[in-house]
Amino acid sequence: MDAIVLLGPPGAGKGTVAEMLKKSTPYQHVSTGDMLRAAIKAGSEVGLKAKSYMDKGELVPDAAIMGIVGERLEKEPNGRFMFDGFPRTNEQAELLDKVIERIGGKLRRVFLLDVSRAVLIDRMCGRRICKTCGAVYHERNIPPKKAGICDVDGGPLVQRPDDKEDVVANRLDVYQRQTASLISYYEGKGLLYRVAAEKSGAETEKRIRAELGL
Ligand code: ADP
Ligand code: AMP
Repeated sequence: MDAIVLLGPPGAGKGTVAEMLKKSTPYQHVSTGDMLRAAIKAGSEVGLKAKSYMDKGELVPDAAIMGIVGERLEKEPNGRFMFDGFPRTNEQAELLDKVIERIGGKLRRVFLLDVSRAVLIDRMCGRRICKTCGAVYHERNIPPKKAGICDVDGGPLVQRPDDKEDVVANRLDVYQRQTASLISYYEGKGLLYRVAAEKSGAETEKRIRAELGL
């Protein structure tokens, strides 16, 4: 297994740039947030449990996350993965290291998407996603061709329940409390690469590809 991690606060643009990189690099996009939203939609047990945490902007317990990620990696032990929104705690990062060691894989690089708090809030509050396929838009920055309608499949665009203004503030606090320590964790391993990510997604994609030599 060969992996990269997209690290950064909610709203930094990880999912958007991952969708670009999945077309221009061999890495598959693995978003734990997308997997959890799919589980909620499917009405599975994991989804049911996760929803109460997600709606409040809290993190889903590590055991549930490691379960869904482990299942995905076992399907393809030789895959090339781009993790988006994972790991989010020291515990998850340590468990990921163990999994990678066990299957003889490599964590190539961790990209930290750097965006100011004001821009993060604007990006999250304006985010709209397709109810059917999950494609991500922004009401002003990256609007669909036809207002309220997904370009990909014509599905209706909706706001994520956790993108409401009161939950957004909590998610930023949760990031500071539980995830930001991963910056020094990966810095210590010599894996961290900071990307200024307030410009276009294409610009961020270009910088990441250059660093990967792809
Ligand atoms: P994350 O996965 O880090 O939470 P997203 O990729 O979902 O972030 O992006 C958050 C919001 O910001 C979305 O509405 C997206 O359309 C918008 N967005 C993403 N990248 C950019 C960018 N470079 N410039 C402006 N808006 C962006
Ligand atoms: P995201 O789509 O990455 O913004 O994630 C949405 C929500 O899903 C988060 O606010 C958490 O509640 C949950 N979530 C996603 N990934 C993880 C993770 N790695 N660990 C814990 N919770 C997660």
